[in-house]
Amino acid sequence: MNAADASSRGEETDLPSPAVEPPRGRGVLQSKSLVLNRSYLPIHITSVRRACVLLYQGIARVVDEAYQTFDLPEWCERGLGPGEEPLGLVGRAMAVPRVIALTHFDRVPRRSVRFTRHNVYARDANTCQYCGRRLPRHQLNLDHVVPRSQGGQSTWENIVCSCQACNRRKGGRTPEQSGIRLLRRPTRPAWTPFLVHAAGVQRYREWCAFLSLPEPAPRAEPPRTASATSAIPCG
Ligand SMILES: [Zn+2]
Repeated sequence: MNAADASSRGEETDLPSPAVEPPRGRGVLQSKSLVLNRSYLPIHITSVRRACVLLYQGIARVVDEAYQTFDLPEWCERGLGPGEEPLGLVGRAMAVPRVIALTHFDRVPRRSVRFTRHNVYARDANTCQYCGRRLPRHQLNLDHVVPRSQGGQSTWENIVCSCQACNRRKGGRTPEQSGIRLLRRPTRPAWTPFLVHAAGVQRYREWCAFLSLPEPAPRAEPPRTASATSAIPCG
């Protein structure tokens, strides 16, 4: 029982591309930077290459772990801190900008994850929620746990990833009726861990302050949106 209709209304999303980790050796420019809005709330994950372009254009500033911000010349001038990765540019090495903040972007990040086919697959990590097999997406369905014929809704709490075999075995029945066990009860995912998870990337040490601080209180540039400083779970 597919829920393709769930995605057809809004496949476009501001989530980063799913689970594509560049192969080793393709260089630090392909690795990831965390993008914050002007209030230091995480809104996106992008490549270091793109982060450098935004810095060069003056649209973003680098944020260090002490919440100090730097434009590109200042960041180059700062050099390498202890344990920081170098980004070799012509002339001298600067530290990889792992966290940048957009200087003119006030929009508060989406606090709920859009309900789409893509995002259900991402939440369930492309894993059948009945047999636990992880499969390519074209071999997966979305399944209504409680079938629509029995009043089941197309919601985060009632749609899971399912392989075609389990989907057939279950038929138009509930897990209890078909004797198939659901691995875990589906829930609406929280935004911030989902952002990191959906990008399929490692979480860098420099990101943690911005993904876990209960009360982001930047010392250098206090957030202008007081209401936007709610707790951000660090999944
Ligand atoms: Zn299965």
